[in-house]
Amino acid sequence: MDASVLVLGGGVGGSVVATELRRLLPAGHRITLVERGDRFVLGASLLRVIVGEQRPDEITRPAAALSRRGIELVTANVERIEPARRNAAIAGRELEADHLVIALGAELEPSVVPGLADAGCSFYTLEGAVALRDALARIDGGRVVVLTAEPAYKCPAAPYEAAMLIEWTLRRRGVRAKVPVDLYAAEPTPMGVAGPKVSTAVRELLAAKGIAYHPDHQVVRADAAGRRLHFANGAEAAYDLLAFVAPHRAPRVVREAGLTGESGWIPVDRSTLRTRFERVWAIGDVTGIPLKVGKPLPKAATFASGQAAVVARAIAAQVTGGAPAEPYAGMGECWVETGDGVAAHGHGDFFADPVPAVSLDAPSADARSAKEAWEREWLEHWS
Ligand SMILES: Cc1cc2nc3c(=O)[nH]c(=O)nc-3n(C[C@H](O)[C@H](O)[C@H](O)COP(=O)(O)OP(=O)(O)OC[C@H]3O[C@@H](n4cnc5c(N)ncnc54)[C@H](O)[C@@H]3O)c2cc1C
Repeated sequence: MDASVLVLGGGVGGSVVATELRRLLPAGHRITLVERGDRFVLGASLLRVIVGEQRPDEITRPAAALSRRGIELVTANVERIEPARRNAAIAGRELEADHLVIALGAELEPSVVPGLADAGCSFYTLEGAVALRDALARIDGGRVVVLTAEPAYKCPAAPYEAAMLIEWTLRRRGVRAKVPVDLYAAEPTPMGVAGPKVSTAVRELLAAKGIAYHPDHQVVRADAAGRRLHFANGAEAAYDLLAFVAPHRAPRVVREAGLTGESGWIPVDRSTLRTRFERVWAIGDVTGIPLKVGKPLPKAATFASGQAAVVARAIAAQVTGGAPAEPYAGMGECWVETGDGVAAHGHGDFFADPVPAVSLDAPSADARSAKEAWEREWLEHWS
């Protein structure tokens, strides 16, 4: 009998799981993907928009490409999920399937911090990245502050890259001497899950560029009119241009479905990505996978896509009776772009016990080219 698979969310994880399943399953089996957006935005390339290297249309692709691959694409908002029935309510109709994959990512919620939404550029969105690009092109004096509003957010490297790329942009414009750059972080150290060596290396990169780093600063209020940030430790910071990473939450529809655990994210078996519901998987940013080091597995495309491949093979094996999928192993890589045409490559085993075994190579032009190639591959995947 033909099987049906319902994938909720068509970003990195959802598009990979659907594409892989289409490749693995004979044509009669039905794959439906629900995505509210009509285009994919490659998160990693938002940084290229900020520095003016790429236009928004160069880092986005129409979601409709999926339907050309034999995937039934539904462009709509998922309004309700009933995981026990593998059912979702979408634009007035109900979809039900034999297998359900939840890949709805993380919502950005600036409203968690009073005043933050109006205080600066939320550069994890396309609109915020464009606004930051335009503001950086105009600024010729005053302080730029990069802020992480909570200690955990997707791509732990990105705010650090943003600070360094902003610094580089100001230097190229010849205004750096008049524009100090500060990074206020809610977390105690950069990329802490990757271990102290990586954290120290990133701190040294910031220091070499004269970026003042203020870790352990949890913002509690932003005053947009007075251009001031207020922190839980009593400190205050003045800014002229603010670039912030908003607090992240599991999407409301996921929380209302009772899918989230204590962490606020969907708990899954880390090897299989199964949830506690039969034939329901969750992948990518919407999951919470604790590590022995006391921090969760970071939220990043490198993990979402690896998990998607494992889940696609597991579902295909169940449908066709083939060999079971290899367990998900927690391997990841990323690039920390530091400006001046170079990037540092980070890579390792995040499931290693007792602590992740991750290293960060010295920045090089080759690594930056590799990052660009990785971004191009993603955009081709969506074309
Ligand atoms: C600035 C920046 C830089 C980054 N750099 C890197 C990097 O260098 N390397 C790396 O590995 N990762 C990077 N990332 C992180 C990466 O983009 C995410 O971790 C990845 O996209 C997660 O994939 P996902 O499928 O879990 O979620 P997403 O890709 O966010 O997909 C979730 C999808 O669900 C859809 N959705 C949500 N709610 C609903 C709903 N109710 N109904 C219908 N659709 C819905 C959304 O529209 C979205 O398309 C970066 C992110 C940012 C913001």
